[in-house]
Amino acid sequence: MNNGWGHPHAMHKIGGNAPKVSLKEVPLRRILGMFRPYMGLLFFIVALALAGAVIGLLPPLVMKEMIDTAIPDKDIKMLVWLAVLLVALPVASGMLGVWQNYLNTKVAQGVMRDLRQGLFGNLQRQSIGFFTASRSGEVIQRVTDDVQAIQGVITNVVVSSIMQTVVLATSIGILFALDWRLALISVVVLPLSMLPVRKVATLRKKMRSETQKMRAQMSAQLGEVFGVSGAMLTRIFGREQSQEREFGALNKQVMDMELKLSLMGRWFLMFVGLLGPLGTAMIYLYGGYSVIQGTMTIGAIVAFAGYLGRLYQPFGTLLNLHVEVMTALGVFQRIFEYLDLKPDVIEREDAVSLPQAAGNISYEGVSYSYDGETEVLHGISFEAKPGEVVALVGPSGAGKTTLIGMIARLYDPTAGAVKLDGRDLRGIRIDSLRSQVAYVTQESFLFHATIRENLAFAKENATMEEMESACRKAFIHDFIVGLPQGYDTVVGERGHRLSGGERQRLSIARAILKDPVILLLDEETSHLDSESEAYVQAALQQLMKGRTTLVIAHRLSTILAADQILVIHDGRIAERGTHSELLERDGLYATLYDTQFQEASRDDARSQGDERRNPHPV
Ligand code: ADP
Repeated sequence: MNNGWGHPHAMHKIGGNAPKVSLKEVPLRRILGMFRPYMGLLFFIVALALAGAVIGLLPPLVMKEMIDTAIPDKDIKMLVWLAVLLVALPVASGMLGVWQNYLNTKVAQGVMRDLRQGLFGNLQRQSIGFFTASRSGEVIQRVTDDVQAIQGVITNVVVSSIMQTVVLATSIGILFALDWRLALISVVVLPLSMLPVRKVATLRKKMRSETQKMRAQMSAQLGEVFGVSGAMLTRIFGREQSQEREFGALNKQVMDMELKLSLMGRWFLMFVGLLGPLGTAMIYLYGGYSVIQGTMTIGAIVAFAGYLGRLYQPFGTLLNLHVEVMTALGVFQRIFEYLDLKPDVIEREDAVSLPQAAGNISYEGVSYSYDGETEVLHGISFEAKPGEVVALVGPSGAGKTTLIGMIARLYDPTAGAVKLDGRDLRGIRIDSLRSQVAYVTQESFLFHATIRENLAFAKENATMEEMESACRKAFIHDFIVGLPQGYDTVVGERGHRLSGGERQRLSIARAILKDPVILLLDEETSHLDSESEAYVQAALQQLMKGRTTLVIAHRLSTILAADQILVIHDGRIAERGTHSELLERDGLYATLYDTQFQEASRDDARSQGDERRNPHPV
């Protein structure tokens, strides 16, 4: 499954083949629904904004009071108070503004936090199948950049639309009260400006989701190219320049798309901005005509035109907001797609907790298909008794990894059942199952953290003594204490600062610390130098002690120690038995032994005095 260079997609070309997905339409209702927990706060924000607007209307009245009352009455005290008020009012409305902005940002950031948290939680529930099919950069992009991309809309959508609607409604009222004929003329241009909204919005929405998709591709590639394995591969194949060129092409596409988006937004704003002049011109045209006819006064037109700004400006803002929301819908689709992902390994309502398993594993007619079309496992049946070691051998791609992953419910069988102590795994609570299973993979993945933290990943509250004891059993303790920072040494991305053998032993120590009933083991295909090899083997023996173990075996010593060997071929158990029984049959196992294990076995065999087809080794 893995090409040995870490990430299975490391060979993807830049600008490569992101899976085509058709995203579901997001109803506006759903977006507004995200604000539900913040309803109280939103009302308060609108109230603050309205209060600020009312205060903003007062200074002219204060001035009027000064001129009409305080000055004629020669009331100095009142004059001073009014002057203070002239300063105090803007200060008050300014402070309200700051408060409102703070709360508004709090709501917006709250909604974004909820989204990110929801995405994280749902991604944690996905099965491994999801992650093998996705690029990690793309996943990260949706949680971070996509959520960030809607910040503007989230911040403005509710408060701004309420405020502008209030202003718009009151303005229309005032205009009609002033002169219904002029008011009618000034509102007829409004529907006109709505004509391009749909088109612009649809276009921008498409472009926005395209750009986000490209950005996701970019993140995915960055993750691959600059991950240790990818970086190594790039250098070894001398692909720096071609990767740079490919990145450049994608980078330019993002730039061009963002430019287009911004330009289209600007064109639309300009179009909306034409509303004011157009309306004003019509008012003066009709008003001027009426003045000539003697049916209207010039003063009436000027006063009326003075109010037009309060009509067109909020209307334009609302239109633009609408387009912005529509544009953002493309991003919302991407976010909601991940939020709605249904995990294919789910916990049943009636699942029970299994505190301490005995460790009896049985596969009963298990089949599996990754894509729902081709089966990679067909009717696998076998049993592993508590404490038994079952070795799986067979050509690469036969289905061994898929088979053992089922015990940790990384995948569920498409047919048949895997049982632990006679109970179908699907009836056991996932956390209680996984707490009893350890999986030591070929990759020996370590986090970019200290050795201590990497160990604690297996057991959060492990004491230092427990960690050290596990490391001693894994023959890695002496090495660790020999490091300048000991257990506080940071192992680097994927543990690349350690040698292969050290990494393996550390991941074995991690599994020992977890102390599972069931052990899944995917032995390294690449063999280490004989000293490291001896350490790793000794560590593995410690780890397997007393646990039901399913091991994808690449070492002769492991096969020889197994209670049962299953030869997997094309998703079926082709042969089963012990080493000697299988050699006796002279079938697939014998061939495999000749080809696959001869090389690896030379050292083992020599050290154990074993010869080929010796039925009683050791
Ligand atoms: P083995 O461990 O014996 O090498 P695997 O279990 O890794 O075999 O793979 C069995 C088959 O399933 C192979 O044909 C492989 O290409 C396919 N396969 C493995 N992982 C996936 C996956 N995530 N998606 C689709 N097919 C997969």
